[in-house]
Amino acid sequence: MPILPAPYSYHNHSTWSDGTRSIAEMAAAAAAAGLVEFGMSDHYVLIPHQPNNASEWSMPLDRLHDYVAEVQAAQREDIQVRLCLEADYFPETWRELPGRLAGIPFDCLIGSVHYANEFPIDGNAAFWTPLSQEQVDEVHRLYWTRIRELAECGLFDLVGHLDLPKKFGFYPKADLSREREAALDAIAAAGLAIELNTAGWDKPCAECYPAPDLLRAARRREIPVAISADSHAPGTVTAHFRRAAELLRGLGFAATVRFRQRERFAVPLELGGEIANPGF
Ligand SMILES: [Zn+2]
Ligand SMILES: [Zn+2]
Repeated sequence: MPILPAPYSYHNHSTWSDGTRSIAEMAAAAAAAGLVEFGMSDHYVLIPHQPNNASEWSMPLDRLHDYVAEVQAAQREDIQVRLCLEADYFPETWRELPGRLAGIPFDCLIGSVHYANEFPIDGNAAFWTPLSQEQVDEVHRLYWTRIRELAECGLFDLVGHLDLPKKFGFYPKADLSREREAALDAIAAAGLAIELNTAGWDKPCAECYPAPDLLRAARRREIPVAISADSHAPGTVTAHFRRAAELLRGLGFAATVRFRQRERFAVPLELGGEIANPGF
């Protein structure tokens, strides 16, 4: 079995949203890669500015219970498959989420921001190219405001890919430290965890989400961190996990977190040795 420093991952996608393989195929890949817990977290997006709130990269909104059943049926002897969801925070639609998600035994609810108003932050670099620097600044500013609101809404367990607007390498020139700090303060006040999302290392920004200085700021606030690959294909279920663990250790983190039934548990961040399945 491969040696992994933090063999838990709660942010991954299947063909239920924008992933490339079935839940069963992703779970099999995760077991083969040495994970002991693997969360499926397909997108559930109530987009306010589209007819019927439908998004092309979300699961069909009326099929949530079929998705849940398929995740539950994917349990395996060699890995714990966790029931997660990546839901978008929008100020216009977040109040609909509790009713739609009620009664479903999620292990972890990931809250993400993929839009600044109607601007699709991580859709395509070509959307960013025509923006003026002021507009780039405004997308970043609005993003941090939405993250603060996401934390304040109290619905989620884990904040997805903090720092997403850097994805294509369009950075703000305005000083947004006030907005960033307000968002981190809200995350800490709400008792939320954040991800070290390794997918950013393979994007044009060539840096994990969030940047190390934001991880440092999170540590100062005692915000816990989970390592996630945000994988959309079997080959990336544990991408950069060792690098992520080493970065966290270098920043002074002694633990990561795992989730079960929306409870969070700290686990020591081991950088060596075989990890035995603790049979959690
Ligand atoms: Zn996302
Ligand atoms: Zn994702």
